[in-house]
Amino acid sequence: VRVEGDYRYELGEMGSTLNYMAEEIVRSNQIKDDFISSISHELRTPLTSIKGWSETLDSGGYDPDETRIGMGIISKETERLIGLVEELLDFSKLQQNEMKLTMAHVELKELLKEIVLNVWAKAELKKVQLRLDADGDSFPVYGDANRLKQVFLNIVDNAIKFSHESSVIVLHVVREDGWVRTAVQDSGIGIDEENLKRVKDRFFQVNTQGGGTGLGLAITQQLVELHEGELNMTSELGVGTTVSVKLPLLEEESKSREEISGEK
Ligand code: ADP
Repeated sequence: VRVEGDYRYELGEMGSTLNYMAEEIVRSNQIKDDFISSISHELRTPLTSIKGWSETLDSGGYDPDETRIGMGIISKETERLIGLVEELLDFSKLQQNEMKLTMAHVELKELLKEIVLNVWAKAELKKVQLRLDADGDSFPVYGDANRLKQVFLNIVDNAIKFSHESSVIVLHVVREDGWVRTAVQDSGIGIDEENLKRVKDRFFQVNTQGGGTGLGLAITQQLVELHEGELNMTSELGVGTTVSVKLPLLEEESKSREEISGEK
């Protein structure tokens, strides 16, 4: 959409509404342009590396160690591309209301233990410690296990990415009046008040240098909402961030119904 010339005319209040709408259109166009440029960059970086290494290895004469390193990089970068494309596909499915959930009884504490194991190596690289602090043993929810894993992986991934070396990330889980609340608390770089308001918007990143698409939290929030839950973030610049996810607690009676599963 191109907005040119003087669109304000002499329309009084309506003029200022039009003015506001036009500015919003210009702003959202700018956000999309920035997104296309950042996603192109995100796609090009791994492709360049894959191309470089495959050409190098193809030219021959490398010892097994060098070949292994090259193959490892090709495989890691390919994984990164697959992750990016999956993120784009998920985003588009959510936008079009086409995300299907396979619902079943999920034990959240077990799922969080898996998440911790999953990101262990990444956390080790940064000497970041992960602690699961569960107030009890049983936190049953009704949800799509894979999508819930995606929700918590994204939150914990961000917590590691924006943590300082040798800090601690705590995953608190508590039952709260019919809800299970999980809070992922880091003591990383934090987010200032202005940026915190926009951080869950699609495409938004505080700083584009760390890579990513700015879609992670937008997808995460929508997945939580599809589970009839809530996602909230609190943060203080230089102090740290806490992302909490509330999901409806699966009551004992419904849990003991014959094995619940199905599509939502
Ligand atoms: P991306 O997929 O690019 O990481 P997200 O939607 O997951 O995008 O996050 C958007 C932005 O929110 C990040 O680029 C970062 O600036 C900020 N952010 C998210 N989580 C944290 C955190 N735990 N600490 C500090 N900043 C964060």
